[in-house]
Order: sequence, then C-alpha cells, then structure tokens
Amino acid sequence: MWQRRRAPLNEASAHSGRPGMGAETVENRQFAARSGLAVCAGRRGALNEFSMSALDALDLARALIRRPSVTPADEGAMDVLQRALEGLGFACRRMKFGEIENLYARRGTARPNLCFAGHTDVVPVGDAAAWTSGPFDATVSDDVLIGRGAVDMKGAIAAFVAAVSAVLAKGEPAGSISFLITGDEEGVALDGTRKVVEVLAAEGEVIDHCIVGEPSSAARLGDMIKIGRRGSVNSWITVAGKQGHVAYPHRAANPIPVLVDILSRLQARVLDDGYEGFQPSNLEVTTIDVGNTATNIIPAEAKARVNIRFNPAHKGAELQAWIEEQARAAGEGFAGAVDVRTMISGEAFLTRQGDFTEVVAAAVREATGEEPDLSTTGGTSDARFIRSLCPVVEFGLVGTTMHAVDEQVPTAELRQLQTAYETIIDRYFARFGDAST
Ligand SMILES: [Zn+2]
Repeated sequence: MWQRRRAPLNEASAHSGRPGMGAETVENRQFAARSGLAVCAGRRGALNEFSMSALDALDLARALIRRPSVTPADEGAMDVLQRALEGLGFACRRMKFGEIENLYARRGTARPNLCFAGHTDVVPVGDAAAWTSGPFDATVSDDVLIGRGAVDMKGAIAAFVAAVSAVLAKGEPAGSISFLITGDEEGVALDGTRKVVEVLAAEGEVIDHCIVGEPSSAARLGDMIKIGRRGSVNSWITVAGKQGHVAYPHRAANPIPVLVDILSRLQARVLDDGYEGFQPSNLEVTTIDVGNTATNIIPAEAKARVNIRFNPAHKGAELQAWIEEQARAAGEGFAGAVDVRTMISGEAFLTRQGDFTEVVAAAVREATGEEPDLSTTGGTSDARFIRSLCPVVEFGLVGTTMHAVDEQVPTAELRQLQTAYETIIDRYFARFGDAST
C-alpha cells in the first residue's frame, strides 16, 4: 500500500513561482509608492555618528558586533548599518517579515546597479566563558578584532560600507550602489533574502550584479571567490508497518526491510561525475531510526533521512520525484505505508566566468596579490536566492574562525578587504558604467 504526502515546508521552500504576498509586502509597496525609493526620513542628523569623511571599517565593524544580533534577534544592528548608509546618502527601506529585520538601501537611480548582499545576524556564541574576551565586546588586541560576526559577516559589511565612502570621496560612480541586508541568514532563512528578492522582483527593481560578502577566502584573503553553489535537498522517509512477535511474522508487517531497500536503491545510483567546475553530487543517509529495544518484537515503524548536495546537472524537483519513485517501488506489495516528505533548501547555481567575474577577480588580484580560485565548494548561502535576479559572486574574509569560539579578523585584513571592495567598485563602474545605462 502506498501513501504519499508533502509537508507544508515543501511548498514554503519552493522559491520559484508566485511569492506569498502578505500584508507586510503590501505595506512596503505603499511605502515605496509614497516615497519614491522610500527614503527613511527622520533618522539622519545629530544622532548619526558615521559621516561620509570619517567612515572607518573597524569602527563600523565594532559598532555592529556590539549588537548581539543572534538570529532572529536584531538588537539594533540594522539601525547601526542604516545610519551609516544614510550618512552616505543611501535611500533606505526596511522590510520586516515576521520578526526578521531586512534592509534594502540604494544610492542613485541609474544603471548599472551593483549590489552588496549580506546578513547582520550571527550564530550563537556557544560557551561564552571559552572566549578570550566577551563575544559582543568587539575587543581589539594585538591588532586582531575578536567578536561574534567579525568574519561572518559584520566585518565584510563594514568593509564594503567603508569602501563605498572611499569611492564617493573620489566622485560619483557611473551608476547605483545598493545593499541587500538580512537578519535571517543563519537561521531558517524564510523571512530574509528570499522574501526581499521576491518583493524586489515583483516591483521590477533591477539589480545588475551582486557581491555577497560571505567569508569566501580559504587560507589567505583573496585566495578564493565563490561563483556557484551546490543545491540541497532533504527527504524524511517513514515506513509504517505493523508491530508483532518475531516468531509470528505473518501477523506483523516489518517496515525495516522496506526502508533498507529504499536506502539501497537510493545509494546505488551514481548521480553524476561532476559538472563544469563542480564536484560530483552526493547523497548521504544522515540518520536511520527504529528505536526498538526488544529482541523479540518486529517494530511498527522505521524512519530515515537523506540529504543530497547536487550540482547544476540536477534540479531539486527531479531529485524529489526520483526519491518518491524509489520509495514507491520498494513499497510495492508491502502491507504497510511508505511516506516521503522532501524539502528543497536551494537549487544549484553557477555564475559563468565572464566580464563580471573577471572584474572581481582582477580587483582581488590587485588588492591582495592573490590569484583567486573561482570555486563552487561549500554549503548553501543567500546567493541561491539572489541568483534569480542577477549574476552573483561571493567574496569576503578568511572563513577559518566563522561560527567558532574567538571568531576574529586581523585589523589589517579588514582594511585590505575594504581596499579590495573599493577596487572592485572602481573597476566595475569603469567596465559596466556606460554599457548598461
Ligand atoms: Zn554568513
């Protein structure tokens, strides 16, 4: 007997198609209509501690780290960033979905629009007593900034804002610069970049290219840029049978052989041998749960979970259909029921090498002396949502201490990142400034 049901989270995770337009969206649209690109009045002025001439990446990074914005809390982190951007003449628009603060800020109306994307939320500190200094104190000792978010990724946000202030001090760029910042990257990421992108797309907002400030560097600043990411699918498989005595199997229906059959079918397939710069897709069984403590009982239920990390040779929906088909085939003739629930966390994407990746790579080369590897390794990031708007790459600090105790960045590296971002912006508008207008 075969049963199949899709969990609500499956619908929520399918980010193609029509976005759910909540009251918040309508409110934001009205807000945008009232105020052009929604300049947030009333926040400028005497309270603004960041001025165009004095914007320093380290100062801003420390101010951001001092706000303990562990997902989903904001604790004023977005206000700190917004004040800095308003000081630079950005039109800021807050988009709150659920309890999540998001910000879209733009300076200029002309194309091309170069966007910097990132997140102000951070992961929990873990054992606070294990830190050398308070995780939210933003201590600088021996020219190293320590604090939660120093590399992932308040440091990068501060470096990009400081880079913009340095660019503006030299003159007006030939286009627009924007920021797409969320407070929901480290969590479930349902009310963050995904929704902001849906709203911007529905409104026809054009972003030409995007740089995500995730800590992409591997060992030295500039040694790696991410130009793609693999996608991810999770499936929860439940086989429901009938409990009984092991000596009387005809009175029971053992779910375990069916589950084992499903998993062996899934594992038997070689998904691919790789794809244009991507590693091969892989399927991993991440848990098998029966929980039977008795030696003489056939259990009633057996569960397993699998995760697939897949390159652009696959689409999430195809993999979902394949898993369901294998489960159905394994359950053929079984007296119980097989249930599969699948969540597509993100599709694979690749930003093909071309003018944009070369602008970024050349700037990184110039500012850091490193020859960046254009990589597709690592887990998922918010770039998986932005890719529907425009070509996107990721470039930021060295990621070795992200999510760890004593997350840290040398202050010299923070300044070097600022220089790299400034060089990217300069080269970007030199290359694309006239072509797209
Ligand atoms: Zn991050």
